[in-house]
Amino acid sequence: MNIQKTLLIFLLWGVSFYSIAQSQQAIQQVVEQAYQEFKDVQEGKNADYIKELAKVDPSIFGIVMVDIDGNIYSAGDNFSQVSIQSVSKAFVLSLVLNESGPEVIKNKVGANATGFPFNSIIAMEINRESGINSMVNAGAIATTSLVNGATADDKWNAIVKKLSEFAGRPLEVDEPVYISEAGDNQRNVAQAQLLKAYDKIYFDADQSVDIYTRQCALSVHARDLAIMAATLASGGKNPITNSRVVSTEAVSYTLPVMATAGLYENSGKWLYQTGLPGKSGVGGALIAVVPGKFGIAVVSPPLDEAGNSVKGQLAINYIVEKLNLNPYLVESGN
Ligand code: GLU
Repeated sequence: MNIQKTLLIFLLWGVSFYSIAQSQQAIQQVVEQAYQEFKDVQEGKNADYIKELAKVDPSIFGIVMVDIDGNIYSAGDNFSQVSIQSVSKAFVLSLVLNESGPEVIKNKVGANATGFPFNSIIAMEINRESGINSMVNAGAIATTSLVNGATADDKWNAIVKKLSEFAGRPLEVDEPVYISEAGDNQRNVAQAQLLKAYDKIYFDADQSVDIYTRQCALSVHARDLAIMAATLASGGKNPITNSRVVSTEAVSYTLPVMATAGLYENSGKWLYQTGLPGKSGVGGALIAVVPGKFGIAVVSPPLDEAGNSVKGQLAINYIVEKLNLNPYLVESGN
């Protein structure tokens, strides 16, 4: 190779390195702007039907984005922990898809939107034949019951192991949250019994609810959640640990269910605004996945009427718009 060619290669390398650094700086700036823009929003209220959640500091506000190369962009409280709650449903779904394949979920749980709140019994009745989905409580309890393992301990260990692999660190249960919800869980117990009556639960009903309640009480912070979402964005490979967590196929069936029902009865509105699969939890966590690009997570406990983090929705909407992340926004090129 002559000297001119070598110099040209160095120059091009330098230019592309510079433009990557520039665009990373731009992403960090947008995340900081989103934080500044919404940090003083006072709307919403912590969930209180699980008593322990009412005690969580409502001022926690953290935004983290992780790209599929493992770069992290953040603002606010990266490391304040909340219980994962319903966000766990997306990851347990991907675990079951990874173990058993898409037909099992399609035939035994379903993948249709209910249009009803997350714990609706009417939705179970109406969708008795067609099935519901793994993002609402009844479908999530059925999904948890499908995790491989002969005993409740086996199933639980598989869930903690897999969700920890998604996060890239060992996750632990927030015991006070678990105890609080387990003591007040009549509605979920009733839903599991109804599933049993309909032959739609695949392990002991009470034990399935107990495992589900524990999975919802796992403690996570915004950075964990963004890494978990980025693992979905990268087709199942954790971009920080570089280990494969679930198959690409499992992710390809998880994201549509999130898009269909990840934000409860407001899932359509969310998809209309962002174009992205998302999942919220009543602990105040909200994640969104930009396939092939980013995982985005916000933690902020005050919720709207449907149970979705108010600041979470505002911040992610802002980021999606500023960085043009809506996958339906296609430039025609002419
Ligand atoms: N553990 C909660 C429940 O079953 C999760 C609800 C949620 O985050 O949507 O009620």
